[in-house]
Amino acid sequence: MSRTGALPLRLLIIIPTTLLFLIAAMLIGGISLHNSLDTGRAFGQQIAQERSERLENQIKLLTQRLPAILELNAQGIRSGRLDIQQPVNMAPWLYTQIQQSEHMTFISVALPDGRYINGARAPASNGQTNIASNFLDGELTLASYAPNPNGSIGHRTSALTAYDPRQRPYMQAALREPGQLAWGSIHRYVGLPDFGISMSLAVTDAQGKVIAVCGVDMALAEISEFIAHIPLGNAGIAYLADAEGKLIATSSTAIPFVDPDTPSVRLNLASHPSALLREVSQHNIQPFSHILDVQGQRYLANIRRIDLGHGLHWQLGVLLPEQEFVGKTMKTTRQALGLMLMILVLLALCGALLGGLIARPIENISQLANSRALNALQQDSFKNSPIREVRSLSASMAHLSDKLAESIDELENRVIRRTRELQAANDKLQQLSTQDSLTDIANRRAFDQHFNQQWLMAKREQQPLSLMLIDIDHFKAFNDKYGHPAGDQALIQVAEQLAAQLHRSTDLVARYGGEEFAVVLPNTSLEAAAPLAEQMCKAIASQPAMIDDKPYFLTISVGVSSMIPGHRQSPKALLQRADQRLYQAKSNGRNRVSMDE
Ligand code: GH3
Ligand code: MG
Ligand code: MG
Repeated sequence: MSRTGALPLRLLIIIPTTLLFLIAAMLIGGISLHNSLDTGRAFGQQIAQERSERLENQIKLLTQRLPAILELNAQGIRSGRLDIQQPVNMAPWLYTQIQQSEHMTFISVALPDGRYINGARAPASNGQTNIASNFLDGELTLASYAPNPNGSIGHRTSALTAYDPRQRPYMQAALREPGQLAWGSIHRYVGLPDFGISMSLAVTDAQGKVIAVCGVDMALAEISEFIAHIPLGNAGIAYLADAEGKLIATSSTAIPFVDPDTPSVRLNLASHPSALLREVSQHNIQPFSHILDVQGQRYLANIRRIDLGHGLHWQLGVLLPEQEFVGKTMKTTRQALGLMLMILVLLALCGALLGGLIARPIENISQLANSRALNALQQDSFKNSPIREVRSLSASMAHLSDKLAESIDELENRVIRRTRELQAANDKLQQLSTQDSLTDIANRRAFDQHFNQQWLMAKREQQPLSLMLIDIDHFKAFNDKYGHPAGDQALIQVAEQLAAQLHRSTDLVARYGGEEFAVVLPNTSLEAAAPLAEQMCKAIASQPAMIDDKPYFLTISVGVSSMIPGHRQSPKALLQRADQRLYQAKSNGRNRVSMDE
C-alpha cells in the first residue's frame, strides 16, 4: 500500500522511538562504562597507593629499630654497663635484647681482637633464640649456646665454625667511619640459606680508639613475611628492591627474589623472569603512579623510593591488576547495558505491535476503499477497534459509503430513466423525421428512402417495381371554396383512404408534397398495379370526405408506371415516367388513371 516517498505508519512509530532509545542507551551506556572504568581505576590506584604507603611505614618502623638498638648498646659500652673486658658477661643483655626485638636476627658486639658475642634468632619460621660466641670453645671458633634461665651461657647447641668478625662486611663498614651508623650491604649468612641486612656502629673511647663494634642484623625473610601479609587481592604484587634494582623481598613466592637455580644470587628487576617486573624497571620516575600494560594485562602501579636514613634508599612497588577493580563495576555496567538492550528489543516489539494495531485497520479500510468494496465499508468493520481514531475513521467511511451507495443508486435510476426518455424521444424523432405531420402517413423523406431501397432490391432481383403518383384534382379551388382547414381535413381523409387500399408490408403510401401522394409497390407489375390505381381512383371519387359532418366530394388523377430497373437506370427514370403518366391523366380530363402502354 505504500506510495513512493511515503513511510508506512508502523515504521514511523517504530523507527523514531527505537532510534531515540538506542541513542539514549548508547550515550548512557558509553558514559556509565567510561565512568565505571574511571571509578574502578581511581579506586584501584587509591588502594595501590594506600598499600604502598602502609608498606613504607612498616618498613621504616622496622628499620628504625636497628639504629635504636645500636645507639643503646654503644651507650652501654661507653658507660661500662656492658663489660667488653669480659664479653661473656654481655650474654644476658644481648639475649634479653634479642628476645624483645622481634624481627631482629642478630644483635652482636665484636671486639677489635676478633672476639664476638651475640643474641640470635633463627631466621626461619620457628624464631628460636639463643646465644652465640666465638671465644668459648677455641679462639675465633663460633658456636651456638642455649641460654640458662638467668640469661647466662649454657651448653653448646651447634657445631663449631671458624668465624672472624673482622672479615665480615658489617664490621668493616663500621670501622670505615667509627662513631657513625653504617648500613652494611645485603649479604648471605654464613652457613645459612638466608639473606640479611645489617647495621653497625664502631664505638670509640675518649681517645677515639675503636673499642667495640655493635651490630644488628635483620633477615630479609622477616621483611618478606610482612610484605606477604599485606592484602593485595588475588593477583596483586608488592616488591622491595635496593637502589641498584636487586630484589630484597616480594609478596609472593611465585615471584622469587632469589634465583631459584642459584639461591645465593638475588634477582634483578631488569632481568627478572616476570615480564611485569622487567616492565617496572623501565620506569625510573619515582614516585610513579601509573597504568602498566604487560602482555595484554593492565596493572595499576604505585612505585616509590623510600629513604631509610644514613644513605640507604630502597624501591617499593605495589602492582594491582586493573581487572580486579574495573571488572566488577564493568560487570554491573554490562548487566545494565544488557538490560537496556532487552528493553530496546521489547520497545521495538511494542512499537511493531502498536504500529500494527494502528496501521492494520487503516490499511484494511484503505484496501476496502481501493477495492471499492462498498458493502464491506458500509458494515463499519472496525466499530469495535480499541483505537478511537480508527473507530471514528471506520464510522466515517461507513457513512461515506452509505452516501456513495445512495448516490450511485440514484444515479443509476436517473440514467435508466433518462435512457428510456431518450429512447422515446429518439423513436419520436425517428417517427417525426419519416412521418408527415398532417396526414400521419410517410413523408417525402421516408418515400425517397423506401423508393431508393426498393429500386436497388428490384434491380438486384430483377423484379418489377411500380410507382403511382396521385394528385387531387382542382384542389386549389377546393381550398379557395371551403377554406384551408377544410382542405387539410380533406387531405387527411384522402391519405387514410389511399392507405386503406394497401395490404402488403413492403407497399408504401407517402405524401409526396402539397396535395400529391406517391405509392411504391415492390414486386408489382404494371398489370397488378393498374387495378389498384383504378380502385383508389374509384374509392376517392365514391366516398366523400366528411368535414363537420358534411360530405365533400373529391377526385384524384393517378399516373402509374412500372419497370424492372435496368443496369444503367436510376430511380429518377421511373419517377419521370410516372409523372408523365399523371400529367397525361390530368390532360385526359382528370379523375382517371393513366399508365404505361
Ligand atoms: P389540378 O386539377 O390541375 O391538379 O388543379 P389544382 O388546383 O389541384 O392544382 P394546383 O397545382 O393549381 O393547386 C394545388 C393546390 O393544392 C394549391 C394549394 O392550395 C393546395 N394545397 C396544397 N397543399 C395543401 C395543403 O397542405 N392543404 C390545403 N388545404 N391545401 C393544399
Ligand atoms: Mg398538384
Ligand atoms: Mg391538384
